[in-house]
Amino acid sequence: AEAAGGGDKEAVRAYFNSTGFERWRKIYGSATDGVNRVQLDIREGHAQTVAATLSMLRDSPVPLAGATVCDAGCGTGSLAIPLASQGASVLASDISAAMVSEAQRQAESAMAAQPDTFRMPRFEVRDLESLEGKYDIVVCLDVLIHYPREEAKKMIRHLASLAEKRVLISFAPKTLYFDFLKRVGELFPGPSKATRAYLHSERDIEDALREAGWRVANRGFISTQFYFAKLFEAVPIAASQYFTT
Ligand code: SAM
Repeated sequence: AEAAGGGDKEAVRAYFNSTGFERWRKIYGSATDGVNRVQLDIREGHAQTVAATLSMLRDSPVPLAGATVCDAGCGTGSLAIPLASQGASVLASDISAAMVSEAQRQAESAMAAQPDTFRMPRFEVRDLESLEGKYDIVVCLDVLIHYPREEAKKMIRHLASLAEKRVLISFAPKTLYFDFLKRVGELFPGPSKATRAYLHSERDIEDALREAGWRVANRGFISTQFYFAKLFEAVPIAASQYFTT
């Protein structure tokens, strides 16, 4: 019953096409009307994760312009759009059709604002499991929270198999303290928190990457009052013997 490939995944899809879509579009947007203090704090934390991801990618020897990027679980396009602005060739996909059409709408205004440099992403409604092909860079931000432990590890191995040069993943870290907060949250669930949240240990994520032939070369930790994320940048183990990063 815990498998993300089963009933849980349908619940996640339904949530992000309805109340979850409204809630997260508000959090990831820029308007402040009707956005509460907790949502503004999460907006700020998430913006820091996106900024840290962009800065890791800019600092890497893989040039973003012309790179192929798979943004797995793209949400409203918070990362896909700035990547496309820098000339990356982006596949932006999400399990939620509502999210994908919002991302597409935002990409169209970005395109109108910078027609010469913006490279329109390819948008697809699909789940992470069905992604295929090869990309220079695979990015998956704040999605693993919807995956139970074993499913998350399997998903990381799958995402890594699609990447050639970089894998960037952010996740809510499982530590005693955050575990405790989560338990408190489960005792007092908010009205719109319809899905379960899974935290992950750094060790689990690193193990899954290593099993797929990747090692973590860069780490970030983003925290605000209500938002916590670890960000890992991984490189292929074999290639790292031949060039340093
Ligand atoms: N990555 C985006 C970002 O950081 O702005 C969105 C993060 S949002 C918290 C989580 C997203 O993951 C939602 O848009 C949701 O629809 C998507 N998602 C959840 N489970 C998924 C799955 N199995 N396949 C694809 N997308 C999924």
